[in-house]
Amino acid sequence: MRLIGGLVPAARFRTQHTKPKVADFRYNLCPMNNHNVFAGAFVDRSGHRREDADWLAAAIVGSESRFVPVWRDRCLIRGEPPRLSLLQHPHIDRYLGSQESIFLGLFQGKPSFALAIDAGAGEDAEAPFTDAGDFHDLRYLGSVLSGDEANLAAHAIALTTWHRLQKFCGLCGSRTRAESGGNTRICTNEACATQIFPRVDPAIIVLVSHGDKCLLGRQTTWPEGRYSTIAGFVEPGESLEDAVRREVSEETNIRAGHVQYHSSQPWPFPSSLMLGFTASAESQDIKLNDGELEDAQWFTRKELQSGFPKLPYRLSIARRLVDDWLDSE
Ligand SMILES: [Zn+2]
Repeated sequence: MRLIGGLVPAARFRTQHTKPKVADFRYNLCPMNNHNVFAGAFVDRSGHRREDADWLAAAIVGSESRFVPVWRDRCLIRGEPPRLSLLQHPHIDRYLGSQESIFLGLFQGKPSFALAIDAGAGEDAEAPFTDAGDFHDLRYLGSVLSGDEANLAAHAIALTTWHRLQKFCGLCGSRTRAESGGNTRICTNEACATQIFPRVDPAIIVLVSHGDKCLLGRQTTWPEGRYSTIAGFVEPGESLEDAVRREVSEETNIRAGHVQYHSSQPWPFPSSLMLGFTASAESQDIKLNDGELEDAQWFTRKELQSGFPKLPYRLSIARRLVDDWLDSE
């Protein structure tokens, strides 16, 4: 199946893998701290506010509120080091009439909204808000922003993308409109009134090991020498551990035995959730069964530390799986 390991274009990376304080409540849910880029409960989603139309209407024009403009799947940043450029009501006023603002929740205690800015006609359309920064894609943002702002940007882009792709009802073909502060859509055909919820596509990603070796593969389109962990989408009717064993078998012919959950990473390109695992191998002979991979090999820790193969980009959960395996020596 499709291998969707975390590949990003070359960018200036600042490590996001600093360990959080032990006392931080966000990370006490699981012994394996969840500090993957884009993850983290930095937004109080305040679900009860989504149905409070009066509160939302007041919040949108309130002086406290902040807006994350999203233009062509990009967010606005400014400064050095870069910070997310959050705008306030007077600044975004002219966009509010025709655009749908999406309530994300409370970020740093303030009502925060994503605001999809229409791309306009043609590739030459000028970017908005040039006085407030520059728009960059999420892969770049994840490599330069702090963890909380990367999380907010991922949330905003995931939802605005979903809205753009769900303008029509899948049952009757009528137009849909946003509801619940932009956290659902509903069919405008009253006889249908189907409610549509934001979509998240689960995908597994797994570091398979056998003694002092781990299994990595590469696709033809990847930069030369780069290898990554095995990944693929979960199929209907599968458990996560079933998907892990199937993907590993299809792509490499290796039989995965014990499968253990590691951590997860929102991956809104456009709507994946990467579910990271480790697994032990019960066989060693590699065969590229489904042709998804150009190559797959067993690598020792010493080989991985020597510079070949090139490891997955730091932004990705794939890299964290590899780093944690190296650290577990
Ligand atoms: Zn409908």
